Parts: sequence; structure tokens; C-alpha cells
Amino acid sequence: MSADPNCIFCRIVRGEIPSKKAYEDDEVLVFHDINPAAPVHLLMVPKEHFETLADARPEHEHLLGKMMLLAPRLAREQGVTNGFRVVANNGPDGGQEVYHLHMHVLGGPRPWKRL
Ligand code: 5GP
Ligand code: ZN
Repeated sequence: MSADPNCIFCRIVRGEIPSKKAYEDDEVLVFHDINPAAPVHLLMVPKEHFETLADARPEHEHLLGKMMLLAPRLAREQGVTNGFRVVANNGPDGGQEVYHLHMHVLGGPRPWKRL
């Protein structure tokens, strides 16, 4: 499985940078965003390093489907009852800051700070 030694999310996956975990299995880690934009703000990241959805390959189909199905389950576990957003920023014009694929899960009562 590929990893990038300097990637902040790879370092979180390896436990070199602490995170508040919400879910983990052999393929996926979910943790709370350090700068939450909503009352609940999770980041779902594959343990394998790839930069964007444009870099995903057919073998990632199961992983990406798993992440989409995790979103409602984890939102509910975090107390979200009135809807949520799933956001993946891709590339410069997509507003991506961390180049390790991730999906934001945002929920909780409005107003939210951004997004
Ligand atoms: P992007 O703009 O790339 O879609 O989102 C990156 C997200 O990662 C931002 O919401 C930012 O707050 C979050 N983030 C960046 N560094 C860290 C970190 O070290 N720990 C955690 N928990 N979140 C981080
Ligand atoms: Zn990475």
C-alpha cells in the first residue's frame, strides 16, 4: 500500500500525528477535523495514499463505496439527526489543501462556519 512520508494524513494514519478517531478498519481511518466547519466535522481518509479522486483506480471502487456508506452511519453515531454533507475537494480549483484523498462529513445544527 503506498504512503508518502511527508503527507500529513499518512502521518496521522501511522499514528505519528495524534487525531481524535471516530472509526478505523484495515482500509479507512476517520477522525475529527482539527478546524471544524460544523458542529460535527469528520474526515474520512483511505489508509492508502493517493492524491485525488482523479487518481483513484478501478480497484478503489470497493473502498470508495465503503466510505460513502460510512458517512451516514458515522454522522448518526456523532448525533447528527437532521442531515449532513459529504464533500471531497479535488485539486487547486476544488479548494483541496491536503493532497491525500479525503471526504469531509459535516453535520449538526446550522449555522456552520463555512462550506
Ligand atoms: P481540504 O481543504 O484539503 O479538503 O481539507 C483539509 C482538512 O484537513 C481541513 O479541513 C483541515 O482543517 C484538516 N486538517 C489539516 N491538518 C490537520 C491535522 O493535522 N489534523 C486534523 N485532524 N485535521 C487537519
Ligand atoms: Zn498520504
